[in-house]
Amino acid sequence: MGESCLSCEITSGRRTVPGGAVQETRFFHAHQDVAYPIPGQIIVTAKRHFCFLTEMSQAETSEFLPLVQRIRREQERQLGIEHVYYFYNEDTTHHFHLWMVPRYPWMARFGKSIEAVRSALLHAREQMSSEHHLAAVAEAAAKLRESLAREVEGD
Ligand SMILES: [Zn+2]
Repeated sequence: MGESCLSCEITSGRRTVPGGAVQETRFFHAHQDVAYPIPGQIIVTAKRHFCFLTEMSQAETSEFLPLVQRIRREQERQLGIEHVYYFYNEDTTHHFHLWMVPRYPWMARFGKSIEAVRSALLHAREQMSSEHHLAAVAEAAAKLRESLAREVEGD
């Protein structure tokens, strides 16, 4: 834990993420991935510093999947995202976080399934960082934030 952990910095609010959280719950913080300008690409980070899924407490575990499901539904409803890839690596000692990577039609040029993901991410980082693209990413994050907030109120 501590000062060298970027996720701890973000979830504690000591470091702000552009666009802020799209949703924050008791145990998790979800925000747009700022490393790759792909609309609706969300990182769900635990607030507590731990590395592995198996280290989640019972309470964290109960909150986690419904949160991921809510985000996933709004990715579809608000942004028309038909498919999402989920990534979480166990071969690192990073603070636990789940990537929710949308599959957009433009990614088809890089191939199918998981083999296309890295190329698509790099393409986005290198070719889609114009002001216009970044505005679209921010707008998508705002839509997700608003709809997720409504859903919580509605429950
Ligand atoms: Zn941490």
